[in-house]
Amino acid sequence: MNAPNPGQGHLAHPLFANVDLHCHSLASDGTLDPESLAERAHSAGVSLWALTDHDTLSGQDAARKAAFALGLAYLSGVEISISFCDETVHIVGLGFDEHNLDLRSKLDLLRLGRQQRAQEMSEQLAKAGIPDAYSGALAYANDPAQLSRAHFARYIVQIGKVRDVRSVFQKYLTPGKPGYVPHVWASLDEALSWIHTAGGVAVLAHPGRYRLNSGQERKLFEDFKALGGQAVEVVTGNHSREHVQKYASWASDYGLYASRGSDFHSPDESYIDLGKLPPLPASCRPVWALLEERGTLGLIS
Ligand code: AMP
Ligand code: MN
Ligand code: MN
Ligand code: MN
Repeated sequence: MNAPNPGQGHLAHPLFANVDLHCHSLASDGTLDPESLAERAHSAGVSLWALTDHDTLSGQDAARKAAFALGLAYLSGVEISISFCDETVHIVGLGFDEHNLDLRSKLDLLRLGRQQRAQEMSEQLAKAGIPDAYSGALAYANDPAQLSRAHFARYIVQIGKVRDVRSVFQKYLTPGKPGYVPHVWASLDEALSWIHTAGGVAVLAHPGRYRLNSGQERKLFEDFKALGGQAVEVVTGNHSREHVQKYASWASDYGLYASRGSDFHSPDESYIDLGKLPPLPASCRPVWALLEERGTLGLIS
């Protein structure tokens, strides 16, 4: 540990017993509404929660209200799609002002690109023998601008082409496969500036999942840090024990706080349920200590 742990005195507080700062609702590509997620988090013993839908804040109000009604501490959240070295990377924003107009309008534009990509995906899938995928996928979403590869995958399972969502990704929806459409999302710089302008903390999501070589991965961490990014997800849905060790060590090398989030999407599809993750390694400085220091949590010590 290079620096003393700020907020350390508060870390034994019950609010921090089981923190889950990454999941999805029907507002993006999850299958449950924010109210059901709040209940699920609460009954799993989650004490501090954030809903982090892809590129949208439309579930925030409902999530916050439902959490409040259950006595569950809540932080605003979002997961922003960016492009970095030709790979799609995700940046989670936490504890920002969810009414910030600049952030909202930038996310609106990002979702417009999502909708255009969905149309192209549908055309590609039609050529690969899967007709009507746009309307099929839309049956799983509230709004064409939220359409995700996950909605297409559910439709392709529904019509009996492939047996499960994970196999659809392998067969159709990953780079080089017939339904994959390369897309340029926001830049790292943009995502961080939107989050910071809205008063939030930026977290590099699930670094173990990207197809980056070691030089590119170092550059991602360096650029993220240089642009004011403050935390990295160390414990998350599909990180192996090796990933947890590696990114705990990188967090300390780069002076980043650590986050913990299940990335829960659906009872049928997710790697791990809300609140069921292992704890952060003891060497990590939890991002909730930072959020508490900033006064975002309103905790009285
Ligand atoms: P999109 O943002 O529309 O490109 O979709 C990305 C989403 O698809 C991720 O957030 C996951 O929810 C889901 N996803 C990506 N890869 C896989 C995979 N191999 N298996 C299942 N779901 C995946
Ligand atoms: Mn997703
Ligand atoms: Mn993600
Ligand atoms: Mn996610």
